Amino acid sequence: MSPHNEPVARIHSGNRVVFETCDCFSNQIQREDQLFSSVGWDLINPATGPLYVEDAEPGDILRVEIVDIQIADQGVMTVAPNLGVLGQFFSEEKTKVIPIRDGKVQFNEKLQFDVRPMIGVIGTAPATEEISTGTPGDHGGNMDCKRIVKGAVLYLPVNVPGALLSMGDLHAVMADGEIVICGLEIPGEVTVDIAVIKGTHLPLPMLSEGEHVMTIASAQTLDEAAKMATVHMHRFLVEKVGLPNEEAGMLLSLIGDLRICQVVDPLMTARMELPKWVLKQYDYQME
Ligand code: CA
Ligand code: CA
Repeated sequence: MSPHNEPVARIHSGNRVVFETCDCFSNQIQREDQLFSSVGWDLINPATGPLYVEDAEPGDILRVEIVDIQIADQGVMTVAPNLGVLGQFFSEEKTKVIPIRDGKVQFNEKLQFDVRPMIGVIGTAPATEEISTGTPGDHGGNMDCKRIVKGAVLYLPVNVPGALLSMGDLHAVMADGEIVICGLEIPGEVTVDIAVIKGTHLPLPMLSEGEHVMTIASAQTLDEAAKMATVHMHRFLVEKVGLPNEEAGMLLSLIGDLRICQVVDPLMTARMELPKWVLKQYDYQME
């Protein structure tokens, strides 16, 4: 993701857009005899975009509401030696093609479970640098947060005119951690409503989904990412919602769940989840 990428489309704040996305292997793996190493890192984690939002100026916030996620009827997973948390225990590469029928992942003869489609890569352009779509950061990117699902609202920074939103790397389902470096990788279509928020500061990226509002942070280590996500939520509680400093800390220690997004990308990602009823009690509403 880069400030220099040419926009593929232009819209205004308030418009609805559909992103068609390849899977994280650029759709190059269709059979189980095709291995991860045959794809090559250059083709890993493509993102569709960037989208230019006419009204977005640096300092604004891009509000991305995930209206729908449609996925294909077959996904792919791979493992390889020395990749991911369990890499030392894999002596050979393996590809598994996994069908999806009636909203269920057909994992094997014994195990079928619900899909929960999510977006692995979604972000805006950084102000000056170019960040690989394989790397997460303050701009969003490869956050692999399993709560970026249909119905979620993601808040991203606008660092350059037009924001330059891109996304890809859909997963039919993925667990916190993403321990073998892939979810159930799958092509699909994401429908989003885009809006520009002006004159507001939030510790970004932030996410609203289900009963929670979340801060998401990425850093070299999981420890640092966890601390940053916590500090961001604390700042949000004190500066935006209006809790006293010490009380905000105590509250997070009681009902703020600190969770892992992923531990396998170039930076690690964590999130702090706060129940939305807290905001309601203080008459604070996310825009
Ligand atoms: Ca990913
Ligand atoms: Ca992925």
